[in-house]
Formats: sequence, structure tokens, C-alpha cells
Amino acid sequence: MSETGERIVLGVAVETPQHAGLAACLDYKSEQMLAPGTLVRIPLGKRDVAGIVWQVGSAGAAAGIELRGVRQVLAALPPLSDAWRQLVSFAAGYYQRGLGELALAVLPPELRKLDATQLERRLARLKPAGPAPGNDPPAPALSAEQAAAVAALLADTPATHLLHGVTGSGKTEVYLHAAAKALAAGRQVLVLVPEINLTPQLEARLAERFAGHHLVALHSGLTPPQRLRHWLAAHLGQADLVLGTRLAVFASMPRLGLIVVDEEHDPSFKQQEGARYSARDLAVYRGRLENVPVVLGSATPSLESWQRAEQGAYRRLSLPERIGGGALPRVRLVDMNLQPRDNAGAAALSPPLLDALRTRIARGEQSLVLLNRRGYAPVLHCGACAWKSACPHCSAWRVFHKGDRTLRCHHCGFTERVPRACPDCGNLDIQPIGRGTEKLEEQLALALPGARVARIDADTTRLKGALEVQLGAVHAGEVDVLVGTQMVAKGHDFRRITLVAAVNPDSGLFASDFRAPERLFALLMQAAGRAGRDASQATASEMWVQTWHPRHPLYAALRTHDFAAFAASQLSERESAGLPPFSSLALLRAEAKSAQAAAGFLHAAAAAAAGLTESAGVMIYPPVPPPVARVAGVERMQMLVESRSRGALQRLLTRWLPELHALRQKDKTHRAVLRWAVDVDPLAI
Ligand SMILES: [Zn+2]
Ligand SMILES: [Zn+2]
Repeated sequence: MSETGERIVLGVAVETPQHAGLAACLDYKSEQMLAPGTLVRIPLGKRDVAGIVWQVGSAGAAAGIELRGVRQVLAALPPLSDAWRQLVSFAAGYYQRGLGELALAVLPPELRKLDATQLERRLARLKPAGPAPGNDPPAPALSAEQAAAVAALLADTPATHLLHGVTGSGKTEVYLHAAAKALAAGRQVLVLVPEINLTPQLEARLAERFAGHHLVALHSGLTPPQRLRHWLAAHLGQADLVLGTRLAVFASMPRLGLIVVDEEHDPSFKQQEGARYSARDLAVYRGRLENVPVVLGSATPSLESWQRAEQGAYRRLSLPERIGGGALPRVRLVDMNLQPRDNAGAAALSPPLLDALRTRIARGEQSLVLLNRRGYAPVLHCGACAWKSACPHCSAWRVFHKGDRTLRCHHCGFTERVPRACPDCGNLDIQPIGRGTEKLEEQLALALPGARVARIDADTTRLKGALEVQLGAVHAGEVDVLVGTQMVAKGHDFRRITLVAAVNPDSGLFASDFRAPERLFALLMQAAGRAGRDASQATASEMWVQTWHPRHPLYAALRTHDFAAFAASQLSERESAGLPPFSSLALLRAEAKSAQAAAGFLHAAAAAAAGLTESAGVMIYPPVPPPVARVAGVERMQMLVESRSRGALQRLLTRWLPELHALRQKDKTHRAVLRWAVDVDPLAI
């Protein structure tokens, strides 16, 4: 490295495809010394691209090669911090992605396009520091439990806290008090929520409470210029609070003082493509890295987090009571074995549940009926020749949507008009089998004449703003019975709902995915939490569950709202089966035009691993097709990799994956593999 400026070499993180075989950082020469974290524009092939100076000195290019020079320095932007670069390095390593790919991907797309002049113009247009540092309105008093939780959070040594509070127990108020303390100390606060749908409510609440501070949102629903503006406000330290979805975990925040992860159990925190990172887990890592407290809040924590709290790695804080004296709804199980059957086999809605709904309607109260399957019926069927509405491109049935008379594939989107007659034999009498929300809505309207029945699911909320309009109608009391998928079970606060019913939740009990019971329990607890938020109605509020397995331990725990009992039984099952959190998993996926090609690649991958010393203590299972193997004409196979030791699994992956890139290059038979990817800590297997 030279001090004269004639040849300073910089290792620059560049967005290069992982498969290109290029290193994470490429060497460039610069006429001036640049601090790590500086944004630059550099030549890459024939293109001019954005890069981040990652290190001063060579990143490892061979000597004697003529290096290309940095084209432009975006000097107006303060460099990204060491902590930020360390977070990105860790995430790239742990989730087995290219460093440059991840580092550039988590910046606002707009920022990557700007040259130095354009950036200066954008920065000049930024509002200086938002609203005048004024006063936040006074905060409401806390209950004794909330106050204890806040005090523990703000204890001297920053730690990760698991805030376990039943729905309606005032978790948000704990976040707000802790945030107020951090803001008062001149620090920034990062709040992560699972879904964009949930940001407007919390954003409004934060904006009201912290009227004297500058709040920005960061999620994929923003326009590119908005996202850049908000990101810059956080990076420059102008924004005091950042509220966002999983991508916000990478927000650059120089004064970070607190991280809140609300609904920490929610699967939406795991990215499902590209770098498949868990924003919840990265938030915990970031908290340790930057020495700031982290709060993971949930009524139904993930078993991973619960186990860490049991072991003492996280501090557990409990809010066992509902605020304002609201009681948790009484849970009633309807034994479907004892209900009269109609000619379709079993009535969708049992007589006692219908009676309960009628009682609510007569009293002017609202009910929520939950079914986690949208559309009218999951499949159409011909009784004469056994034709079914299969998707020609996927190993799945196309769902019958009655509203627009279509058959729609929920995996690839392939949509056709419903045929008038069976395409195979011409039979005119083709029948729907099973039931989705659309049919449930129809059945409820028939069974409850005069009742105002409405439905909220992904189909009714496709248009922008539709969800708000529909929620508004529920809040205004224009709906008696609301039918919905899990979409309505999350986060929304329905004060007038006094009955929540799950009409067919049993499938989660016996699914092949070991996390299915955990998800079912969380969904039912969340749904139950929608009811009885008002103390005046709380004694009357109920959760109804129609089940063929009324003695299942999951329902027993649900009846008593006993998350701890449920978690203990699930954790003991997981421990004896050697499943997470008692082991670490990775899933290697391959996609090809034929299942044989995909499986062939995975077999070759397994053979390659067997030759590595790092495979000791790591179990590689045979390739299997996922539940829906073929999507849009592409066959998918997956292979589970498991170890009792997270470190052993990581060491194998780090050594093994580069060999897999090479495998595809050198063996022609593997060219048929269209894509392969590894998912570390997969949520669905
Ligand atoms: Zn037929
Ligand atoms: Zn399809």
C-alpha cells in the first residue's frame, strides 16, 4: 500500500452473481485513501456499478494484474459504519450468500443507481431533521407488570429479552416506554414488524406518541424515492425511529439504542428468496454487536426463542394479564364426531356453533369465522370419470373461485374459466369438493338469513386500499359475521367481536412439517386474542374450535391459554426427535426440468460432502420432493442437512457450497439443473 497516492488498493464489495465464481470483494486502485464503508462507482466488465469499499489493501487479487481504478467516490454520503459492515458480513457468511450481493441488495435500489452529483442533489433536498425537537405528549401510566418489564429492559447490561404477553396485555406500551427512554438518551430506535399490513396502525401510534421526534418507515411498499429518502434519514441520524419489515434490520443507524421485534414468532421475518435470512435472528445478533437491548415480543413465542429463554440466554419478561380487566375468551371445543352429518359427509358448521352465532347477531355483537383456505373449493371433480381440476404445470389442484367462475392455481397463477362440462368425458355435473372461505361465506349467509356476512382474504383485498375499506366496515359495525383467513387473525384490533370460531383447524395437527402444530397454536391463540378486548364484553367472549380430535393435547393447552404447557410438550417432542432448537438444519434445494436431474444433482452433492472432513457430525438425508414438487413446469427436490452442532453445520456449508458451484460447471449432466440454493434454518421443510 502506498502513501503517495499512486497505487492505493481497495477491496470493494460488488454485486456479482454468486455463480460467477468471482470473489466477494474485488480489488480496485484509487488515487485517494478511502475509508471502509465509502460508497463508490466502479467499472465491472463493461458496466459502471455501485460498490462499497470493504477494506483498505488488497482483497486478494494476484500480483501483477493491472487493476482498474475507482471511477467516482460518493463522498457526500458518510461511510457505512464498521458495525453495519460486520452485520452484513455475518449475514452473508451465515446464510451462505455472496458478501457483495447481500451488501448491495440491502441498500435502497435507488441509491445504487446514483452518481455523485445526483446523490448530492438528493441530500440537499432532504428535510433537515424533521419536526422541531418538541415535546412528546405524556405517556399513559403503566401497570405494575409493564413497569417491571420496562425496568428490566433498561437494566445496565443490554441483553436480549423475550417479552411474553398474552394478546391485549399491553406489549406495545412496554415498547413505547422503552423507546421513549432510548430517545431521551439521544439514541435511535428500530422497530420491526412482520407485515406491511401491520405498519399503518403502529406507525400512527408511534407518530402520535413521539410527535416531537422524526419517524420513518422502511418496507417494500414504499416508492423507490421514498425508500431512499427514509433510508438516508436513518443513515444520517436524522430519523429517530425506524419502523419497518424484515429488510429494515439492515437499516444503517449510527445512534442505534434499542431494537424491538414485534410478533417475533411470525414466519414473515424469514426472507424466502435470495439470501434467506431471518430478520429476527439478525436483530438479536445486531443487538449484541452494537451492545443495545433487543426486545422480542409475542403472545406465542417461537419455540427457538422460548428455549433460549428457558436456558437463560434471553431474559424472559411476562405480561400474564390483559390490560383494563379484559379476560381471555373462554375456549369451547365442538366434537365433530358427535355432530349430525349431512349428505356431503359432515356439516361444515355444527348446530351449536350456528346457535352461538345467532345469539351474537341477536345481541348486536360481531363474530369472526376463521378458515385458512381461500377460494370456493380446493378442487373440482367429475363423478362420472374421476377427472379433477389439476394444474397442467404443477403437482397441485387448481382452486375453484366461484365469484369470477375461474379455476386458479395458487402456486403458478395459471387461471382458466371453469369448463361447462368435464373436459375428459363431457359430463355436465362437475362438483366442487371441500370448502374455502368463499363457500364458507355462502354457507353462513344461507344458514343465517338476514345476517350481514363479509369476507376478508387475499382475494378480496387484492386492490390497494381494499383491506382498509373492509376493516373500516367491520369497525363501523356494518358486519355481523366476518369470514377470513389468517390475514385477519394477525394484529388487527376488533373491539366488537365477541366470538371467534375456527371451523376446520385439524390439518395442522398431523401435517408432515414439524412446525405445523406450533403455527396452528399461534394462529388459534392470535385469533382468540381478537375477541374480548373490551372489558365490558370480555366475560361473554368465546373461542369456538370445531375438531375431530377434541382430546388432542394442543387443544387442551389452548383451552387453558397455557402457552408454557404447550411449549414444554412440543420441546420435549423436538428434543427426542433431534429437531430444532435441539439441532440445526439446512435445506439444499434443486430445480430442474426433470425430477431425476434435480435428484441427480443432490445425490452428487451428497457424495461431494461425504468426501469432506467437515461432514463429520453432520447428517445428510436422501433427496425428497417438497409437498408441491412441480411448480410452473419445474420439478423441485430438496435434501435436509442436519447437525446437533450449529458450528459443525456452518463449517460444512462453507466448505461444501463452493464445490457445488464447481460441480455444475464441470459435469455436463448437472447443466439440466436450473437453480439450486441453500436455506439455512429453514422454516418449512
Ligand atoms: Zn368426466
Ligand atoms: Zn400451477
